[in-house]
Amino acid sequence: MSMLLKSTAERADVWGRLFARYLPDVPFRVWPDIGDPAEVEYLATWVPPENLLEQFPNLKILFSVGAGIDQFDLSRIPPHIQVVRTIETGLTDGMVAYVQFAVRAIQRDMLRYIHQQRQHVWQARPVRSASQFRVGVMGLGQLGVPVAQSLRGMGYVTQGWARSRHDIDGVKCFAGEAERMEFLATTDILVCLLPLTVETTGILNRDLFAQLPRGAALVQCGRGRQMVMDDLMAALEEGQLAAAILDVTDPEPLPADHPLWDRPDVLITPHIASSTPAESGGMTIINNIRRYLNNEAPVGLVDRAMGY
Ligand code: NDP
Repeated sequence: MSMLLKSTAERADVWGRLFARYLPDVPFRVWPDIGDPAEVEYLATWVPPENLLEQFPNLKILFSVGAGIDQFDLSRIPPHIQVVRTIETGLTDGMVAYVQFAVRAIQRDMLRYIHQQRQHVWQARPVRSASQFRVGVMGLGQLGVPVAQSLRGMGYVTQGWARSRHDIDGVKCFAGEAERMEFLATTDILVCLLPLTVETTGILNRDLFAQLPRGAALVQCGRGRQMVMDDLMAALEEGQLAAAILDVTDPEPLPADHPLWDRPDVLITPHIASSTPAESGGMTIINNIRRYLNNEAPVGLVDRAMGY
């Protein structure tokens, strides 16, 4: 059996040391030095190589080195191969910090002040407190729950929406399509932390924006293809949305001539909200291989039917 990593040189370096120390019985290989393909039982990558089964007939687990698996075409991965995403605290901490910053920036009108500074304008606006804002988190998963809890701790009136019913202390939770409209109608700052699936592709569209209170704001940290970019432009233009902080766009990178770049009511970051640190990401994979060898389900096992 062997473990194959197809990723960055930094990960290869760090993981090589971790595997040698903590899982020495599993030979560690770095793409393209794959050794005997029939030996490869574990593959960790962002984008897998073509013809997975033909290349690695004994593959047992395909690990995503990140939190998402939307870069995988699940229909092309044979059903007996387990697909596992990376869940670890470094990624969560990064996302919590990013969303805290984004929501606070909206509360304190920072996008307007950045614009005013560029125009050399000294003009104060009334300060609104956190408790005057209702923040709604779409997606109450590994990232959404700690994000909602931290926003609540910052004093925002916090609520969340997911497919299934959740119970989070101090956070009003809505479930499913039936409760989505009520959730949106009572959300001043919408934070998207949904995975990209067939159902969530294009979910941030004109209809959804229209269901938010006029002048609401958006923090988009999910995946670019969840948003209809032209609908966002229109909602900002019409004043239905007052501001948007986007960590993901469609496409990525956002083309240099895209009109969103120059809008004073938009802040764009290049998909940096959070990432898996090499060290803790490697330990997460090692622990999951140990679990697998002990006949336990890996942490982060993807539900193939749900697509996340
Ligand atoms: P999880 O799989 O743990 O959670 C997903 C949540 O979304 C769940 O609460 C789930 O509901 C909900 N959900 C999924 N589909 C629907 C739907 N159709 N309707 C309503 N709710 C739905 O994911 P994570 O929290 O780990 O990550 C979320 C996403 O964040 C990732 O998939 C990725 O796209 C993005 N991300 C972005 C990063 C960045 O740097 N910008 C970094 C890392 C992740 P339920 O609880 O009922 O199952």
